[in-house]
Amino acid sequence: MTPFQTIAMVDWSGGNDTGPKPRKDAIWACVIRAGACEAPIYLRNRARAEVWLGDLIETELAAGRRLMLGFDFPFGYPAGFARSITGTDDPLTLWEWFADHIEDAPDHNNRFDLAGQINRRFGGVGPFWGNGLKRDIVGLPRTKTGYQNPFPDRRAVEELAKGSFTCWQMSGAGAVGGQVMMGLPVLTRLRHRFAGQIAAWPFEALDKPVAFVEIWPSLTLGTSPADRIRDAWQVEHVARDLAGLPAEELTRRLTVEAPEEGWILGVDQNRSTIAPPPLRNDCFALPAGVSWTPVDDALALLRDRLRAVTSIEEIPVMDAMGRVLAEDCIALRSNPPQANTAVDGYGFSGGLPEGAHVLPLADGRAAAGAAFAGTVPAGHAIRILTGATLPEGVDTIALQEDVTVEPDRIALNGPLKQGANARQAGEDVAQGDIVLEASRVLSAADLALATAVGIARLRVRKPLKVAVLSTGDELTDPGEDAGRDGIYDANRPMLLATLRAFGFEAVDVGRVGDDRAALRQRLDAAAQEADAILTSGGASDGDEDHMSAVLRDAGAMQEWRIAIKPGRPLALGLWQDKPVFGLPGNPVAALVCTLIFARPALAQLAGAGWSDPQGFDMPAAFEKRKKPGRREYLRARVREGRVEVFASEGSGRISGLSWAEGLVELGDGACHIRPGDAVRYIPYVSFGL
Ligand code: AMP
Ligand code: MG
Repeated sequence: MTPFQTIAMVDWSGGNDTGPKPRKDAIWACVIRAGACEAPIYLRNRARAEVWLGDLIETELAAGRRLMLGFDFPFGYPAGFARSITGTDDPLTLWEWFADHIEDAPDHNNRFDLAGQINRRFGGVGPFWGNGLKRDIVGLPRTKTGYQNPFPDRRAVEELAKGSFTCWQMSGAGAVGGQVMMGLPVLTRLRHRFAGQIAAWPFEALDKPVAFVEIWPSLTLGTSPADRIRDAWQVEHVARDLAGLPAEELTRRLTVEAPEEGWILGVDQNRSTIAPPPLRNDCFALPAGVSWTPVDDALALLRDRLRAVTSIEEIPVMDAMGRVLAEDCIALRSNPPQANTAVDGYGFSGGLPEGAHVLPLADGRAAAGAAFAGTVPAGHAIRILTGATLPEGVDTIALQEDVTVEPDRIALNGPLKQGANARQAGEDVAQGDIVLEASRVLSAADLALATAVGIARLRVRKPLKVAVLSTGDELTDPGEDAGRDGIYDANRPMLLATLRAFGFEAVDVGRVGDDRAALRQRLDAAAQEADAILTSGGASDGDEDHMSAVLRDAGAMQEWRIAIKPGRPLALGLWQDKPVFGLPGNPVAALVCTLIFARPALAQLAGAGWSDPQGFDMPAAFEKRKKPGRREYLRARVREGRVEVFASEGSGRISGLSWAEGLVELGDGACHIRPGDAVRYIPYVSFGL
């Protein structure tokens, strides 16, 4: 399909204007020809608009330019309507029907009468409602009271495009019902006049010179500037936005399947495919002239610059454990949905004063899932079991343990407060409350909460995919002969396992030697497969630091000299739009940098937002002096309420990583810690390990 050289947007109107002064509720249009935008045009009534549209189509056809014409009213009705009127599901037959039945002159039209006439076929209570006229119309309800709709209220697309008005509403602010009825006949006449030259989207193939397309400007546009007429501003901006779309993107948006109801351009038919745009190229840039960046500054930069890169899908609550919630989750019903009893016992109305009481027992009982249908007479009690809806006439429950029971009465001692042992409807959650906020990593309890308030499916982000790559000529895979000079690749299993513990999808892309061409190739493959890449080794700026060299050569590298021990410079960069975290090769430094930097940064990319690990101040079981200028992390664990640290601080001591159960964090300044002093201990579990 060739692109459209001319794009025009029309903001239609159901009413008809009379005067020459531009008004907001008349028709506005805007044309962009070969990229040049004309001033929005004021068309004071539909007769003029029809003439203008005819002229425009004629001009563009004569010039051999393809024309896309956008209109802001639905091209179809909810499923079933077309067939009930015309005997076929074909929406264009319905267009013809409206063209035959609508009378339209600047001073009069029959849209409300026609709506009433249609309604009368269905019993006179719907599908249309709203009457903008003073006189009553038989069969057309003025309001939604008593209104009944034999058809769906909305088209499928309107279920996705929240906030749109329905085509059944004929009057009132924002109503589009009249616009559709008064618009379709105009489009139909134009199709007759230019027979075979106009395709109506999405019902017909776009292989004609002109396309009519349904667009809803408010879907994508914000509010107009105060000094502009909104409709004039909107048609201009919609036209500009469409003209600015790359051809492939426009084609993608035009590719939808909605043969009966039609669609709104720009609403994704498969919402699971909504993917955020890639990261900005400069997301890892560091301020110039800073030689050592403090840890907190580095973290603040990552926090500011990174955002979610994962796309959104909808899944059953059952499967949502550990997933990142993509949007606020709103209670569809209250919890509890109705007042019920918190205990097994006897229910009655009102509290009881101090003293002994005897209450006659009503017949029957109320249990969870088996409500008591009748009313409990005043002064009577009824048997009631935990979770049962409070029957009519019950608001207070006495515990069965406090009651003496006879076949037809109970005896108990007061006082008992009115409302005792009852749970009120909505006392936990009220319908409409936000129960879980977007960005939350869903816990088992969250799944219970969502389910309790009536939610069956959740919109969540796809898990972040992180590729793990080891680099170094000395590395060997487990099970192989490492030879005299080789070492085993210990980082890869550690990092893969760590990422999985964080809740990401870890992708093993193996290891490569110190060879730049091989490294580039492997990064290419990793970028294809994953959302982010974690490498270890070769991240510094020495001769054999090929990872940083490759990133630097590609112009995609930022060397982060962070004032942290352990951890030499981190190499951060983008490779084919995918963030790369180049970690140091030393396993201790690699893990510390992963926990301190990569974990929160990746969480940000995953859509989970920023989180600082929970640390605890605890007495030290060790002594240590530390110089100022950098932050230090010591391998540590808690025994008998005191924090021990590993005997050696050597960065290659993997045994210490395994010995430890967390890290001690020593601030950027100098310190001298003596046994018993408080130090900050962050257990591995606080990082999600
Ligand atoms: P590099 O950062 O490449 O200079 O490596 C620093 C140290 O970490 C060297 O002693 C490497 O042999 C070691 N090293 C690098 N990668 C790994 C790995 N995947 N597993 C274990 N040790 C490694
Ligand atoms: Mg190396």
